[in-house]
Amino acid sequence: MPAEHPAPGLFIVGIGPGRTEYLTVRAAHAIARAEYVIGNDSYLDSIGSLLEGKQVIRSSMGKEVERAKTAIELAQSHTVAMVSGGDAGVYGMAGIVLEVLEHSGAEIPVEIVPGVTAANAAASLVGSPLSGDFAVISLSDLLTPLEVIEKRLDAAFSVGIPVVLYNPRSHGRPHNFALAIEHARKYYPPTVPVAIVKNALREGQADPVIVTLGEIEHVMDDVDMHTTVIIGGSESRIWRMGNNVKGIITPRGYHRKYVY
Ligand code: SAH
Repeated sequence: MPAEHPAPGLFIVGIGPGRTEYLTVRAAHAIARAEYVIGNDSYLDSIGSLLEGKQVIRSSMGKEVERAKTAIELAQSHTVAMVSGGDAGVYGMAGIVLEVLEHSGAEIPVEIVPGVTAANAAASLVGSPLSGDFAVISLSDLLTPLEVIEKRLDAAFSVGIPVVLYNPRSHGRPHNFALAIEHARKYYPPTVPVAIVKNALREGQADPVIVTLGEIEHVMDDVDMHTTVIIGGSESRIWRMGNNVKGIITPRGYHRKYVY
């Protein structure tokens, strides 16, 4: 763990979904202590107010390995914060930084600061869809072969749990989302609710869309790389207040044990 500023070391910081009020106090401390802050453009932009007086190194998507190497090199003699959206350990920078560090043989203090990941950010806007067990699957086949993703989807849907889809649909691979829906339909009835949450808890947040698996074709175009999709599980249901659809409830099982 990096000691007092300016001791050399590396913070790997999850900065949450975007709005700074969802950044943890520890994450803000880590960034405040850092001499160098390194990350990709959109993440750095969202914490612009914390970067005054820092050496800022902007990187871009696809340059993760290079970014990891730069951070490790700098951290031999400086306090460095590598920032990553959401949680740095969930499809973020923590894994690749640790792999590169391990490979380099360098010994430096490292602290990983957890952040609110997109699954939690999105879920918070649509009730309580993830009350019990759930799975998180990325539909990006850049680093994972599509057939492996399909197997994982099948495994998750086959046990009836809610599935959170990250990286659901990009221009480069528009079909993966439709494919995931096909897999869901093998196991779930058309009544299972689905939430489409765009830009959760950050600039550009849209009203979440709640549909059923049976009707999802109508809203496919709403799904993009700024979106997290939550497909409910076999017990999930739409949550209404009066006549308004508010979100999704996945009962954890209290109704089987208590009367309320
Ligand atoms: N490390 C990040 C995830 C990076 S993968 C985290 O823990 O949240 C990028 C994907 O995450 C996006 O394609 C999208 O599916 C999801 N995502 C990240 N932030 C989001 C947000 N604020 N709102 C909705 N989805 C988000």
